[in-house]
Amino acid sequence: MKLSERTKVIKPSVTLAIAAKAQKLRSQGVDLVNFSAGEPDFDTPEHIKEAAIQALRKGMTKYTDVRGIEPLRAAIAEKYRADYGLSYDKDEILVSCGGKHALYNVFQALLNEGDEVIIPAPYWVSYPDMALLCGAVPKIVATREDNGFRITPEELRAALTPRTRAFVLNSPSNPTGGAYSSQDLEALARVLKTHDCVILSDDIYDKIVYDDFRFHSILAIEPKLRERTVIFNAVSKTYAMTGWRIGYALGPAALIWAAGKIQSQSTSNPTSIAQAAALEAISGPQQNVTEMVREFRRRRDRIVSLLSEIQGVHCFKPHGAFYAFPNFAYYLGRTVNGKKLNSACDLADFFLEEAAVAAVPGEDFGAPHNIRFSYATSLEEVEKGCKRLASALKKLA
Ligand SMILES: *Cc1c(COP(=O)(O)O)cnc(C)c1O
Repeated sequence: MKLSERTKVIKPSVTLAIAAKAQKLRSQGVDLVNFSAGEPDFDTPEHIKEAAIQALRKGMTKYTDVRGIEPLRAAIAEKYRADYGLSYDKDEILVSCGGKHALYNVFQALLNEGDEVIIPAPYWVSYPDMALLCGAVPKIVATREDNGFRITPEELRAALTPRTRAFVLNSPSNPTGGAYSSQDLEALARVLKTHDCVILSDDIYDKIVYDDFRFHSILAIEPKLRERTVIFNAVSKTYAMTGWRIGYALGPAALIWAAGKIQSQSTSNPTSIAQAAALEAISGPQQNVTEMVREFRRRRDRIVSLLSEIQGVHCFKPHGAFYAFPNFAYYLGRTVNGKKLNSACDLADFFLEEAAVAAVPGEDFGAPHNIRFSYATSLEEVEKGCKRLASALKKLA
């Protein structure tokens, strides 16, 4: 079968490959500790499920407005007003089938062949491939671990060219948990003000932050960027609703309209009853979020300290999201059972085989020395998994 050229420029998600290997070991009866999940382990809160059930009972089972039901778009506008002082009209909001779909639609609406998209690394796996699907060029800019995985204003300035069409900002970050303070954003905004490109701000972890870190929107800091910034968010991570597939974009009306046109010729509206659930999630009680974040914080503290105790492992302490992204450079190049561990991928395979621990190697995040450990799993599993890793790595020491 001859396939389109488009399918050849992208690769399948590595996360799914690890999940498949892990699943296979599990089916063979192996007691696996799984750090590969990209989603909260908590259940969707009951009041949110109830809203979906009510919507179903009331017959909300037909097509809706392609852009999402009006009350949901109004609730999203209200969230951004109340939380960040930003003002958006209902025509400046598009609800899509997950945050990923919102990003995809906007990439498609924005990018032409040869346009450059600046993506700081480590990055969420889908940004480069989404750019490639538009014929655009991902321009990967490595950040430094000792700078908290943040792109500096100088690094950003150096990456800008006349072809730069967009800059991707993801704070807090998947996979690093790195995040930008208001001063950081102010400094980046000063650079961005001088160059006409679109800022794509992926705020999906805005509510999953720790200690005294506060999420800031770059637009609250520099309102002049409003006409060329798109904000992305979703209910997936904040409300443990990954399977419901509701995400959204806020941005200038013309771009949102164009992204909605693409959606209208592909998926049409996101699932009607999932929209009703998302409306309850965003406008209902937020107590569950507070509790989930409190639990994530305890696990973060534990996993970072346990990983850091292992010889040669360096682990940045995340400010948000639910991933630790330790550096294993110390172990790369070592040999075990006659096999040389050349890459994070080899090391992740070693963890799986020797320690029955599943984690996602950093290559596809643009970080070949690191491995991502999701702590969306119980404290007991965190402790068991780290103990196994420590003893497996002793064999390499
Ligand atoms: C999970 C995630 C998304 C997409 O989430 P959806 O499940 O599509 O709503 C987008 N960006 C980042 C950084 C993520 O981690």
